Amino acid sequence: MDSLPALDPDASAEAIPGSAAAEAPTFLDRLFDAGLLVRTGVDGLYGRSGAFESVVDALDRLISRLGGEDGAEVMRFPPGMSRPAFERSGYLKGFPHLAGTVHSFCGNEADHARLLACVEAGTDWTEKQAATDIVLTPAACYPLYPTAAARGPLPEGGLLFDLQSYCFRHEPSLEPTRMQMFRMREYVRMGSPEEVLAFRELWLDRGTTMMAGLGLPLAVDLANDPFFGRAGKMLANNQRNQNLKFELNVPVNSVEKPTACLSFNYHQDHFGTTWGLTQADGNVAHTACVGFGLERITLALLRHHGLDLAQWPADVRSTLWG
Ligand code: ATP
Ligand code: ZN
Ligand code: MG
Repeated sequence: MDSLPALDPDASAEAIPGSAAAEAPTFLDRLFDAGLLVRTGVDGLYGRSGAFESVVDALDRLISRLGGEDGAEVMRFPPGMSRPAFERSGYLKGFPHLAGTVHSFCGNEADHARLLACVEAGTDWTEKQAATDIVLTPAACYPLYPTAAARGPLPEGGLLFDLQSYCFRHEPSLEPTRMQMFRMREYVRMGSPEEVLAFRELWLDRGTTMMAGLGLPLAVDLANDPFFGRAGKMLANNQRNQNLKFELNVPVNSVEKPTACLSFNYHQDHFGTTWGLTQADGNVAHTACVGFGLERITLALLRHHGLDLAQWPADVRSTLWG
């Protein structure tokens, strides 16, 4: 089998121009060559083959089986969310650099003629593009909080949701694991601090067992979100000091910079306060979510088991496809 070169700490030599290694195809090149990912001309924006999707689908089902007994309410949102809800969520405070807004043409016929002339001339045609009521969903759970809050106080024991959405983040990269549009599967727990922290513990355990069972080397580490700017440094430190975010990392692009494939997030009362979401006893609700990067886990499997799914270890194939 045309397997990938072993992951080694010198893999970054691939990028040094003029070095012999500069000629070696990158993991992304190999994925394109194998047809697993399809070029669009934009870094981080890819089509996927049937084989790639068969892994994504199998992971989605596996994650459903893991959470199957818990009675999570399934909800699916489109990959865009309400702009007012997005603004209120606070996302722009932390991550203005990642946000994607949907704009549409809002001009008259003369503006249309100018637009076409600009397109023809290769100059900026977006003058009459105005922000719509939709922004691209940055994480699968963002549209859920206002929806849940609109139902009124949580029932006794809180709530549990099962989500999946395409997400957008403006972080173009040549690492195949850092896409601009990707799918995130999530479970979200809302309730008391004890309830949501117990949920996070449970999924730290289940997620680790799941990934180890797929034959992937992994480490769970404390993490922080990439908050913007100088104020963001403080937010990131705060998040770490309070153990709010853990990531399950797998070496995919390199050994020294492993890739977060799952994340386990405790938001404290951030979304509860933001949306006026309360527990049955009237106290503000706490929330936590576990996020599975479906493309990232697929890429980790391809990296470690090879680009030919038929050649994957039998136990991994049987876990995924029965
Ligand atoms: P990273 O630190 O690598 O940027 P993250 O902390 O931004 O990851 P989360 O915001 O916790 O990730 O998102 C939940 C999951 O979604 C991640 O664990 C990962 O599997 C996936 N994910 C996040 N960003 C991307 C991306 N750009 N491309 C593909 N998958 C992603
Ligand atoms: Zn979430
Ligand atoms: Mg990120």
